[in-house]
Amino acid sequence: MITFPEDVTSLIQALNARGHEAYAVGGCVRDSLLGIEPNDWDLTTGASPKEIAECFQSERISDIGFVHGTITVYKNGIPYEITAYRKDGEYTDHRRPDRVEFVKELSLDLARRDFTINAMACHPETGIVDLFSGLDDLKNGVIRTVGDPEKRFREDSLRILRAIRFASAYGFVLEENTRKSAIRLADSVNIVSPERILIEIKRMLTGKGIESVLTQYSEIIFSVFPELSPMRDFPQNTPHHAYDVWTHTAKAVSGAPNDEISRLTMLFHDSGKPHMHTVDAMGVSHFRGHPAVSVQIAEKALARLKCDKNTLNRVLKLVSEHEIRIPAERKSVRREMARLGKDVFSSLLPLLRADFSGQNPAMHPQKYAYADQLEAQYHQAISEGAVTDIHDLDINGNDLKAAGLRGSEIGLVLHALFALVLSEEIENRKSALMSRVEEIRKNISQPGH
Ligand code: ATP
Repeated sequence: MITFPEDVTSLIQALNARGHEAYAVGGCVRDSLLGIEPNDWDLTTGASPKEIAECFQSERISDIGFVHGTITVYKNGIPYEITAYRKDGEYTDHRRPDRVEFVKELSLDLARRDFTINAMACHPETGIVDLFSGLDDLKNGVIRTVGDPEKRFREDSLRILRAIRFASAYGFVLEENTRKSAIRLADSVNIVSPERILIEIKRMLTGKGIESVLTQYSEIIFSVFPELSPMRDFPQNTPHHAYDVWTHTAKAVSGAPNDEISRLTMLFHDSGKPHMHTVDAMGVSHFRGHPAVSVQIAEKALARLKCDKNTLNRVLKLVSEHEIRIPAERKSVRREMARLGKDVFSSLLPLLRADFSGQNPAMHPQKYAYADQLEAQYHQAISEGAVTDIHDLDINGNDLKAAGLRGSEIGLVLHALFALVLSEEIENRKSALMSRVEEIRKNISQPGH
């Protein structure tokens, strides 16, 4: 049995009191049974949309979804979607039904839902209604369409992406016929709007089952991102690697922090490798310059899905810089923090570990020790308030102006001082910095300098 929030129970009771059936349905039932707090509670009812609105006329409601049978009722500021039992008509555009029909049977409403785990209803007193063995599938970790998968995926191609998104979110697998149909019809996902595809991809990437979703259902991923397919089975004959580029990528995505930007970065980080492959005299693979090609691939693919500019720019920056190769020493780390900015540098550290996690396990101790040292140097720099940005200097342009410097001289002297502080040749103290100004100014004004 699941625990209902009080407001949901009172909405159901209000409908029942007027003689209408009403249940919590879909994601909230599924998530409650999995012990996960639902994102929202959707209700389904035998009342018509008009009857729902009448039932809640003294509450704040919105009828924006009226034609689809949905009335939103607000309780304590929280919106609850209450939808009349519905049967969907034909799907001629493979996206949405041509028309919807309001019906009186819960069974018809549950039958239109995509997967058995999403097709359960629950009443606070009478319990679960499970007409398609959703409970068993939930217990066994299986995503199975309600009814014939071929038909259900042809009706609405978004369901193919939803199938692997749920598989990733819960670490489930697709039931065999569901899997075969999803893969056979994979190309049809491109009918779905780019924005919608990207939402599903991001949710999929942040799921706990992402590694096996990327390897088991790669055909579906490659129908969205054909530019990633050369990675599959692409060998990496180097002591650093034990897997082909795509298997490595799946592990690296899964090992990255669980946020969209980190996961998107690792999805694309090595996409340039197949294009930059060379083999040396010893037969060892090299992929020099691949990050720049990965950036081009990521940019094209994410722009196609109408990715927002902030996410895009951040991902491209991290992809382009993902190969940290600096010595794990005080000065080099501080110089790299200055070059990249503290923020980019700190985001790269866990991605470096994620990258290592997909490399040859025999090299892990040595690689993770390197990551530990980088991280320790980074934390030391932060705790010491190390100067990694020109604005961290204890003087600014106005101080130099007051000392009589003019125009471009000011910027040049500031940069020269910043370089000296970074290499720890002078202290970041106003008096120390000012004592070097005259000498630097003279040097830069020398002809030929
Ligand atoms: P989450 O909130 O985690 O996205 P959810 O299952 O609640 O999961 P919604 O998109 O809110 O996702 O959908 C609510 C319910 O509507 C689903 O549980 C399912 O029963 C049904 N549903 C959603 N999308 C489809 C679809 N494309 N085809 C058929 N049924 C769907």
